[in-house]
This record gives sequence, structure tokens and C-alpha cells, in this order.
Amino acid sequence: MEAEQKKRVVVVGGGIAGANTVRALENYADVTLIDPKEYFEIPWAKLRCTVEPKFGERSMFLHSEYLKKATLIMSAVTGATQDAVITASGKQVKYDYLVLATGTPYAGPPSKAQRIKHYQADNQKIKNAKTVLIIGGGPTGVELAGEIAVDFPEKKVILLHSGSRLLEFVGEKASRKTLAWLNAKNVKVHLNERIDLKSISETTISFTTTSGKTIIADCHFVCIGKKSGSSWIKDSVFEYAMDERGQLKVDSNLRVEGTTNVFAAGDIINVKELKQGMCAQKHAQVVADNIKKLSKDPNHTKLSTYKASPDIAMVSLGRNIAVGQFPFGTFCGRLPGMLKSKDLFVGPTRKGFGLKS
Ligand SMILES: Cc1cc2nc3c(=O)[nH]c(=O)nc-3n(C[C@H](O)[C@H](O)[C@H](O)COP(=O)(O)OP(=O)(O)OC[C@H]3O[C@@H](n4cnc5c(N)ncnc54)[C@H](O)[C@@H]3O)c2cc1C
Repeated sequence: MEAEQKKRVVVVGGGIAGANTVRALENYADVTLIDPKEYFEIPWAKLRCTVEPKFGERSMFLHSEYLKKATLIMSAVTGATQDAVITASGKQVKYDYLVLATGTPYAGPPSKAQRIKHYQADNQKIKNAKTVLIIGGGPTGVELAGEIAVDFPEKKVILLHSGSRLLEFVGEKASRKTLAWLNAKNVKVHLNERIDLKSISETTISFTTTSGKTIIADCHFVCIGKKSGSSWIKDSVFEYAMDERGQLKVDSNLRVEGTTNVFAAGDIINVKELKQGMCAQKHAQVVADNIKKLSKDPNHTKLSTYKASPDIAMVSLGRNIAVGQFPFGTFCGRLPGMLKSKDLFVGPTRKGFGLKS
């Protein structure tokens, strides 16, 4: 295809779904990636970076390290029309095809160096503390508790969760095995307990739960499930396609309902499956295939379809152990740990982006 004939594809969000879509399309189309930060970060490696900030050197890499032809615009997107997106910096970026992949809202700094400094500050916070309180027993809270319990066994770790079991996104067996592992590592878990986040600040050391319990801790981490990164879509022409949970309704070709040239991928879509990076990668493949097909022939009738993935999930518990839920059973131990916990898939992910592992 001649350069001037190439379709303009705009991908909003440089996480697992967006970055993989860009990689699959940049040789075929005139691709622009819009992301507020200069780097790609492997989301599930964040907790390891908290206990070992140097880990971030490999688990984060600049978009410019893997992009060959695509253009990067560093900004958040704040709105969209039928033929352009609008960035926070006021730029209008025209598209022939649009891909929405804003997973979870990003609140971190725009540069990798600043991000590593954040991890160093968190790490120092842990080192200075005798007792660490973690608020939230979903995957982020549990993985952080596991990392601290293994790397800093001398620290007292308290994990507080508002639900009746940890890791509610997976089955009860995984929750039970995780609780038993944490108990064995002396992590004190409080279930069915809440702390009003408005009542605490960074320097709080005495925490009162809504049931009246007092917890004393030298530092704390809030690991409450993040909202969907789709809130900006409310101010766009695609607002009508959001469901009651703020997820985008897509058809089996991953096109946003009611559109012919707008796709969505990753955690923001309303396909009934676990929100997982491995699903986001598959979405990216389907979206890229379909954009290639439609670029050649807008009336293409054999578009690729996406079928919801089975409920597979792995939650790491420190450096060697993980709890894994697979279609054939749920296991906690070194085997799932070998798959995930040692390197947190950083090597294969880097390789997938054409970088040295
Ligand atoms: C603790 C933890 C462990 C996990 N472990 C695993 C695992 O082992 N395996 C697995 O497969 N999955 C795992 N997951 C799930 C996985 O991280 C997500 O499913 C995946 O990151 C979703 O990818 P995404 O591209 O949709 O969103 P994200 O990775 O959240 O990326 C969203 C991107 O959009 C950008 N963005 C947000 N808002 C805007 C905007 N307005 N404009 C422009 N850009 C924007 C952000 O900067 C970001 O780059 C884990 C998640 C957590 C929290």
C-alpha cells in the first residue's frame, strides 16, 4: 500500500490491548498511539517494583523502544467525535479507524524515571515501617501482601478487606488457599472490614474500621479496585454504547455497538470474562485483523470474531508461589509460581514487543 493510501488508525491507550494493537498494525496503516505516559508498564509487575524498584527497569519500557513506524502522542484523550479524538492538550486527531483501549485510568507520572522514583519512595516507606497495613484484598492487595511477606518477613503485615473472602473475582477455592498461605506467612487478614478512606491521610497511623476496630500501622497502601478507564467516553459520541458498569458494548467482531469503524479492546469492553491481560492480547489480535480486512475492503463479510476466554487467573504470592485457577482445577504452590511469580512474565512480554528479555 502506498503511504498516502494508508488508513489512519488512532489507538487510545497504551496498555496491553492498545500497545499490542499498534504493534500488529503499524506496518499496514498510518497508526497513532495516544497515551498520557511515555512508557508501557506491565501492570502485574507493579507490586514487585514496590519491594524491588530496580525491577521496573525491565517491567517498564518506553513506547519509543518498540514502536517502529507509529506516531506517539503523549496526552490523555478527553473526547471523541465520529471522525476525530480530542486530547487534553486540545489536539484533534482524525481517524479512519479508532481503537478504544483505556483499561484502567492512569494516575501515575508521565515519565519512567519519575515512576521509578515513586517505587523507591514506596519501598522506603516499607523499609521504615514495622507494621504495614494494606487496604483491599483483591489481586493488587493480595499480591502486595505476598511480596512484602516474602521480601520483608520481619515486618508485620495486616490485610484488610471489605468482602467476606479475598480475591472475589476468582472461585472460593482460590480464596481459601490464598488465605491459608497468607496466614502461614503471618499476614493478619481482616475480612468484612472497611476503612473510610476520607478519614485517613498519608501520615495516619491509627486506623478505625467501620465496625469500630482500631488498627495501628506505620504506613499503609490503598489497593482498592480501580474504576474502568472509560469515564472520558461519557463526554464522547460513544456515550450511548456504555453499559451500567461503564463498560463498552461491543459486537462479536469487537466493534463498538452501532459503529462500523470503531473498535474497543481490553478491560473496558463488556465481554463476560475475567479482565485479564491475556484476554486483552487476544482482543488486540482480533481488532488488528479486522482493521486490516476492512482497510482492504470496507464491505468485507468474513471479519474475525472473538469468543470469551475461559476463567483462567494467576495471583502471585511472593517470588516463588502463586495461586492459579485453571479450567482443570485450582492450585496453590510452586508450579503456578514457576509460571508467574519468578519473573512475572516480564521476559516473554518484552520478547513479544521485540525487546531483549
Ligand atoms: C495485581 C494484578 C495482577 C494481574 N495479573 C495478571 C496476570 O497474571 N495475567 C493477566 O493476563 N492479567 C493480569 N492482570 C490483569 C491485567 O493487568 C489487565 O487485564 C490488563 O492490564 C488490561 O489491559 P488494558 O490494555 O485493557 O488496560 P491497561 O493495561 O490498564 O492500559 C490502559 C492504558 O490506557 C491509558 N489510558 C487511560 N485513560 C486514558 C485516556 N483517557 N487517554 C489516553 N490513554 C488513557 C493508560 O495510561 C494505560 O496505558 C492483573 C491485574 C492486576 C491489577
